[in-house]
Amino acid sequence: MPPFDVPEGDPFGPHNLPYGVFSLGDSDLRSVGVRLGDHVLDAGAAAVELGSPYAALLARPSLNPLLAAGRTAWSDVRRAITAWVTVPAHRETVAPLLHPLSEVTLHLPFEVADYVDFYASENHARNVGQIFRPDAADSLTPNWKHLPIGYHGRSGTVVVSGTEVVRPSGQRKAPTDPAPVFGPSVRLDIEAEVGFVVGTPSAMGTPVPLSDFRDHVFGLCLLNDWSARDLQAWEYVPLGPFLGKSFATSVSAWITPLDALEDARVAPPTRTHPLLPYLDDASEDPSGYDLRISVAINGHIVSEPPFSTMYWTAAQQLAHMTVNGASLRTGDLYGSGTVSGPSERERGSLLELTWNGRDTLELPDGKRTFLEDGDVVTLTAWAPGPDGTRVGLGEVTGRVVAGS
Ligand code: CA
Repeated sequence: MPPFDVPEGDPFGPHNLPYGVFSLGDSDLRSVGVRLGDHVLDAGAAAVELGSPYAALLARPSLNPLLAAGRTAWSDVRRAITAWVTVPAHRETVAPLLHPLSEVTLHLPFEVADYVDFYASENHARNVGQIFRPDAADSLTPNWKHLPIGYHGRSGTVVVSGTEVVRPSGQRKAPTDPAPVFGPSVRLDIEAEVGFVVGTPSAMGTPVPLSDFRDHVFGLCLLNDWSARDLQAWEYVPLGPFLGKSFATSVSAWITPLDALEDARVAPPTRTHPLLPYLDDASEDPSGYDLRISVAINGHIVSEPPFSTMYWTAAQQLAHMTVNGASLRTGDLYGSGTVSGPSERERGSLLELTWNGRDTLELPDGKRTFLEDGDVVTLTAWAPGPDGTRVGLGEVTGRVVAGS
């Protein structure tokens, strides 16, 4: 079957068309690619050969020019590429520009500007609260239902799927230990999240309202917020996550445009507390997304977190992070926070799945509380697409290796 013809039901069919950046063989030459089935369309070369006005956005080594071009351009480019891979008249030109995924190297698709991570799952926040503050009257902190809690992370260590993750070393001290010790983390964990990629910047001093979410955010991807729980527990009071998080954050090589996820939009859970006007989305179009995530360790699925259960939406997170006048830059990335559903098999971290190491996970290759060297963690996901189809999200995977 020629690569132009993606099998029916393929989650990476022409209804999806996520963007990435690839190179061929040993070449250093990078180009914007669009995934079609198990192939990558060299979108830059196709634009050039077809005389498209979008060559200046696509024949580039990064997605940043496309991200910066704005929402109208995003829709126009997507419409053009859809035609390139579906209209028979383009087949002769396009077919030679489709490369098997197995023959390309995928790169970090955009230059990450600022990186922010949120904490938007009520189930996750309650689980963590019960684990770390068992004596508190409420497992949620008093601010949790009033604002999307977040922190600024380290953009320079955002890495593309497939990058090995070196086990971090640092200080740890259990409450019962007499003094801190230094060494490799013994509680290395994952957080299954969704990352949102900002395209259109905003001016410093000008907040971005809820209604402008889709003018600024280009698309989303799976994100693994690797977390060293022992380092985190000792360092996080009073200023929050630092070295327990900043050693690595993995993102998928594929950015799914929001335009591909129209059929996945859902209303967020019922709000239980009144919201201040800048966060009140009662009269907004729904900006929750029905993404069905799977978490696998060494190929064995350990959890299936449902993104539709997230209390705070990406639109609310964007409104909140700019309400003080902070500006957006092209390439800003923000994580949703760990996605955890209400049931035990829907928890997005080992912290929750093993209740901070109290319980063990039974894998075919042995028991786990936290990650061991050599473990490969893979996040995958799909969303409802048009006419009963599925929209696949690009996987994010990473192997844990020992520090030197
Ligand atoms: Ca996180």
